[in-house]
Amino acid sequence: MTLTVQPHRESVGLKAGQLLIGGTWCPSESGATWTHHHPATGEEVGEFAKGTAADVDAAVAAARKAFDSGTWSRPRAGVRIGLLHRYAELLRKHADELRALQALDNSVPLSFGGIYATSVGAAADVFDHHAGWVDKLGGQTLPPYQGGDHLAMTFREPIGVVAAILPWNAPFLLFAQKVAPALAAGCTIVLKPSEYCTFSVLRMVELLIEAGLPEGVLNVVTGTGEQVGEALINHRDVDKVSFTGSRAVGKHIVEASAGTLKRVSLELGGKSPAVVFADAPNVGVAAATVVGAVTMGLSGQACVANTRALVHRDVYDEFLGAAQGMAAAVTYGDPFDPTVISAPLINGRQLDRVLGYIEQGKTEGRLVTGGERLGGDLAGGNFVAPTIFADVANSATIAQEEIFGPVLAVVPFDDEDEAIALANDTEYGLGAGLFTADVQRAFRVTRALKAGTVGVNGFQIEPHLPFGGFKQSGLGREGGLSAIEAYTELKSVFLPLTDEMM
Ligand code: NAD
Repeated sequence: MTLTVQPHRESVGLKAGQLLIGGTWCPSESGATWTHHHPATGEEVGEFAKGTAADVDAAVAAARKAFDSGTWSRPRAGVRIGLLHRYAELLRKHADELRALQALDNSVPLSFGGIYATSVGAAADVFDHHAGWVDKLGGQTLPPYQGGDHLAMTFREPIGVVAAILPWNAPFLLFAQKVAPALAAGCTIVLKPSEYCTFSVLRMVELLIEAGLPEGVLNVVTGTGEQVGEALINHRDVDKVSFTGSRAVGKHIVEASAGTLKRVSLELGGKSPAVVFADAPNVGVAAATVVGAVTMGLSGQACVANTRALVHRDVYDEFLGAAQGMAAAVTYGDPFDPTVISAPLINGRQLDRVLGYIEQGKTEGRLVTGGERLGGDLAGGNFVAPTIFADVANSATIAQEEIFGPVLAVVPFDDEDEAIALANDTEYGLGAGLFTADVQRAFRVTRALKAGTVGVNGFQIEPHLPFGGFKQSGLGREGGLSAIEAYTELKSVFLPLTDEMM
């Protein structure tokens, strides 16, 4: 039977998406719309407004007006804290609805919603966590250097208008990791969701308004990177760009920011290694964890997915056997079917790209499993089989470039020093994992790895742990205190306490 998502579309009651400018939902000034096609079936899911530079101007003006009015940038702490907690509760209440919308957006299956890092629950926890920082964000009073009776102090102030630009793959967590700290710090926002994941984000915004956010504090301009994204990153009245997405666009944003010296935070891609030592507590579990991260849920379209497995030669065959078994257990299809655990690739361009890397992989390694597009009932979607290449050199293209698909490159090693050298031999530095039962080795290797987050015998993202990349995986961190501080400017204040000349 041919796969269709139409019945789900009707049961969710999907409506056309609009822009949110200064508290009013409206079409784009051009009247243009974008039609979203479902990645599992190619069917039309729905339409939303395709914003223009004029819409961005209006949204930035609304955000500036709201910021300058002080209603959000200078209220009592309790106002912000109350709103952020109220919103976290609303998110939890609407978790099922949001997961269904996501399945219509990017086809991430409902079953994957239980995985903490990408769940609505994690997003709610991020809002609760940042609510806790609101009344603790302060400056310092410092001992003076010069003579005279005076105070030397620092204030932390919200940075101003933030352009928050999202990718399509994990809308709940990524929305929360930008919007929660920006609001907690007192900033106002113009949000641009990905054109491949808009409906679930618009519902998250509706709930934020329902929680009581004052008008103009969060504005949304949906549409393409070429129009909306470009207008935002070049806008003179945007104080900061907070971006999550590809390295190529991240580099472009850094170039564009030079014109106005905007503050920029970047969460980019990765080629994260998982190092499996011969003393791993359980090689089968290590293989299942690694292959699961590259194939389940997002089908490898995850920034921190450990797409390079570095495996000690003593457990190499055992690892490959277990990895194959895990790959065979991955199921595809209707994202609303509870037995389906993985997703198609997001669009035709990404499908072609991944299939191109797979062809390249056939010349660079030994194909253990997968290596093709899935057909039959799934032929109308962008499905690619879990693919494992063994005996890959770490210098190979498939071991160096972010493929963003269900493709694992397995590289053998002989000793710890070699493993560390191979793990760090990449332009990226987002995540890394290691599997060992030796606690001293665990700390030694963790310290040597050049990555923003290291998982020892497992990997998780937590709201209070900073998340971000070394090297070309990004600039700055999301999560924890450092995330809120990145939405503030530090002001130094000098205040004489007498009229005597200093
Ligand atoms: P992308 O870079 O294609 O798009 C991301 C966003 O940028 C979208 O909203 C897009 O419309 C917008 N955009 C595109 N061109 C733009 C331009 N010229 N100016 C401004 N905005 C523009 O990325 P994607 O395909 O949506 O997401 C996949 C990438 O995101 C992968 O590289 C992945 O590793 C990365 N990612 C990183 C993290 C992290 O936390 N480090 C999390 C998720 C995804």
